[in-house]
Amino acid sequence: MLQKTHSVAGMIAAEIVLIQGDISFFTWDAAGSLLLGCLAGTLADVDKPGSTMAKVLFPLSALLHVLKIKHRTLTHSLLFMALLAMICLPLPPLYFWVFILAYASHPLIDLLNDRGVQLFWPITLKIRLLPKWIAIDTGSASETVFRWVLLVVCLVLPFWNYVLPYLPYSFTK
Ligand SMILES: [Zn+2]
Repeated sequence: MLQKTHSVAGMIAAEIVLIQGDISFFTWDAAGSLLLGCLAGTLADVDKPGSTMAKVLFPLSALLHVLKIKHRTLTHSLLFMALLAMICLPLPPLYFWVFILAYASHPLIDLLNDRGVQLFWPITLKIRLLPKWIAIDTGSASETVFRWVLLVVCLVLPFWNYVLPYLPYSFTK
């Protein structure tokens, strides 16, 4: 998936944390959370040579390159996310959850990609959620459609509390 797609997914993760925590979207905490989500969502692609994250975090991407860590392996794994969660424990709860969930949104939507993700790295098994013929290829038209859907969700979620009373009863239960 492209960086912009991951940014939107990361922001959705941040919005979910804000809604769960009953935090108004019109606060500095919310602005900080959305920004953090937007950045954390793209972080895992530091393992992809040439990506923006690899350029921004150059020492880290160079280290991964030297260690011959391939794309969608270590940084996209559950093991790495568990490690990251331990490192981030001192963060305030709001930012901890925004960071971890936004980071996790990355491998989660990469699972829809046709090449799959080594979620259980160092086990090299590639996990893919969709059959190859409908899987979303990076930069393809289907990714554009997917990104638009995410964007709509991202724009609607802040108004969730206003939308909720108008939904059919079965949805609100
Ligand atoms: Zn990725």
